[in-house]
Amino acid sequence: MSPQMHDYVKLGKLEEKALKLLLQHGEKGLLQSELWHLLGITSRDGSRVAIKLEKRGLVKRVKEFANDRWTMRLISQVKPLDLSIIRDSPCPPCPYNDSCGPSGNYSPTGCVLIESWLLALSGSKDKKEEATAQTMRA
Ligand code: SF4
Repeated sequence: MSPQMHDYVKLGKLEEKALKLLLQHGEKGLLQSELWHLLGITSRDGSRVAIKLEKRGLVKRVKEFANDRWTMRLISQVKPLDLSIIRDSPCPPCPYNDSCGPSGNYSPTGCVLIESWLLALSGSKDKKEEATAQTMRA
């Protein structure tokens, strides 16, 4: 199971800082000695942090030969959220936005604009054209 945001939220300050640094270094990660240096902590404290993060499934530790010795590379298993997918959502500019929702007059359920947008995201050209045609008729 992939790490969830609440796993991240429950971390201590040091673990949180370590994870943020690892996130910044993407799939390449950092050698543990590099991480300890950036955090300004001892290797003993650093190892505790790494083990704690690994137990939660938030980082992967990979054995690597570097600087004439075997060490561990730490790689974040948490991926940054990509919010670009909702950039073109029809909801922000929708004139019914204020009255759309569970207690409103409008609902995403059955909304042809949402359906059309989702179909476009799925890349299904035929379905997209059909939804667009439905939108035009509505
Ligand atoms: S779900 Fe449809 S009606 Fe509701 S705000 Fe979005 S586009 Fe407008």
